Amino acid sequence: MNRKAVAAALGVAVLATGAGVAVGASNDRDQTLNFAKNLNPTKPKNVILLVGDGMGDSEVTLARYYGKGAAGRLNMDRLPFRGSSIHYVLRPGPGPTYQPNYVGDSAPTATAWSTGKRTQDGRVSQGPSSADNVPGSNEGYRTYLEIARDKGKATGNVSTAEITDATPAGPSAHISQRACQGPADARTTCPTETKAAGGLGSIAEQQVDGGFDVTLGGGRSRYEQKLTADGTDTVVDYAKAKGYTVVTDKDGLNGVGSLNGGKKVLGLFTGGNMTTEYAPLFARTDAYYAANPGRDVQVQGGSETTTCQPQNRGSEPSLSDMTRKAIALLEKDPQGFALQVEGASIDKRDHAADVCGQIGETLAFDDAVGIALEYAKRKKNTLVIVTADHSHTSQMTYTTGKPASGASYATLKTADDAPIRVSYGTADTGLGATTSGSQHHTGAQVPLWGFGPQAANLQGTHDQTDIFGVLNGLRFP
Ligand code: MG
Ligand code: ZN
Repeated sequence: MNRKAVAAALGVAVLATGAGVAVGASNDRDQTLNFAKNLNPTKPKNVILLVGDGMGDSEVTLARYYGKGAAGRLNMDRLPFRGSSIHYVLRPGPGPTYQPNYVGDSAPTATAWSTGKRTQDGRVSQGPSSADNVPGSNEGYRTYLEIARDKGKATGNVSTAEITDATPAGPSAHISQRACQGPADARTTCPTETKAAGGLGSIAEQQVDGGFDVTLGGGRSRYEQKLTADGTDTVVDYAKAKGYTVVTDKDGLNGVGSLNGGKKVLGLFTGGNMTTEYAPLFARTDAYYAANPGRDVQVQGGSETTTCQPQNRGSEPSLSDMTRKAIALLEKDPQGFALQVEGASIDKRDHAADVCGQIGETLAFDDAVGIALEYAKRKKNTLVIVTADHSHTSQMTYTTGKPASGASYATLKTADDAPIRVSYGTADTGLGATTSGSQHHTGAQVPLWGFGPQAANLQGTHDQTDIFGVLNGLRFP
C-alpha cells in the first residue's frame, strides 16, 4: 500500500469515530531544540526538580491520552531535552560492596538524586548496612537542598504526600527507615536515632532543624506527634518556636506574602496524604465483576463512556497552588533557590489500581510542571528537571482483551471520545469492594526531562545518581 492509500484507509476509520486525529504529523526536532536558544552551558541560578512518584512512561502516556487525546501534548512533552534514568538500588549486606536490587522503593531512589549515592530500600539519605534496623552512616550523604542552603540559596520542598514521606524526606533528612516520620514513629522504629538517643531525630524534626525556607504538603499528624514520650510539645510547637509560620489551608498559604526577616513557612494541609484531584475508580478482575453485578460504575471499573470525576478537595491547595507559591517566595532570594516538587499519589493510586486517581494526579503534576516551565522560560536562569523515582504497574492494553484472572482492568473514555483500557497485573487485586491488593513498583528506566542552563546534561541514558550532579550545577564526569 502506498502512503496515499494508507492515509485514505485510515481516514475512513478516523471519520467513523466522529472525533478523530490526524494521520501524520511533522515534528522537526532540529527546530524544536534550536540549540542557540536551548543549549546553555552557564550554571543555573535556580533549580526546580519535579518528581512524579511512580511515573513511568506508561503512566505519562495514559494521562496524555486520557486528558489531552492522542494528538495532544503535556507540559512535560514541551521540555526540549529528554533522557532516561536507571534507578536500581542496593540490597542490604555486610558491605563494602552490595548487590543490586532492581526494583526499589521511594526512599533509596530519592536518596540517589538527593545525595548522588545509592542505598537500600526504606533508607533515606543514609548509607546501606546489613539490615533495616542497623543504621548506616550518614557520612558523605549530603543532600542537594543542604548544599544549596549552605551556599546561601533559598530552599523549598513541596509534596502532595505527607511531607515526611520518603520522596520529600530524601533531600531533607537522614534516617535508616522511612517509617520514622514523626518522633513517636522514631521512638518505635528507629530508637537509636531519636534525639534522646543522641541521633538526628525523626524526619519531621530534621526538616525543622534543616532550616529549609518553604515546606508544603500533607502530614500534619506526623508533626503533631509529641517530641518526647512524657512531654507535651509537638513538632509543630517546635517549628513555631524556631520562627516558622505554620499554615494549614489554602487561604493561610495565600496570606503568606514573603519570607520576611528569614521567617520560614511550614504548610501542613491535611493529616495524611493530600486529597486526590479525581475520585477513585478502581480497576477490577472479571471475577469481581461477575460477583458484583449492577454495582455503581465508579466501583465497577468503568466502561467506554466513563470519565473521571473531580473530587472536592475542600480547603487544600493544589500542587500547582503550592508550586506557584513556593517559587514566588523563594525567587526573592538574591542568591537563588533550589526547590523540589513531588506529585506523590501517582504512585499511591497506581498501587491501589485506582485508574482515575492515578490519571488525575499525573495531570495535576503536569500542571505544576507547566508553572515551573513558564517561570524558567521567563527568567532564563532556572534549570527545570522532571523525572520519576521508579516505574509502576499500569499498562494500556487491547480494549478487546482481558488480563490474567488475578489481574484487574478498567475502561475509560478519553479526550478523543475513544475507549482506553488499563490493566494492573503485578499483584492480585482480590474481590474487595473499595480496596485492592497493593500493585508493585516496576524496574523499567523512567523519563528524565530538562529545560534551562545545563539541561542538555540530561540527554541520553543516566544513572539516577547523575541527577545530583546536574542539580548542583556540575557537569557529568
Ligand atoms: Mg513519594
Ligand atoms: Zn510506591
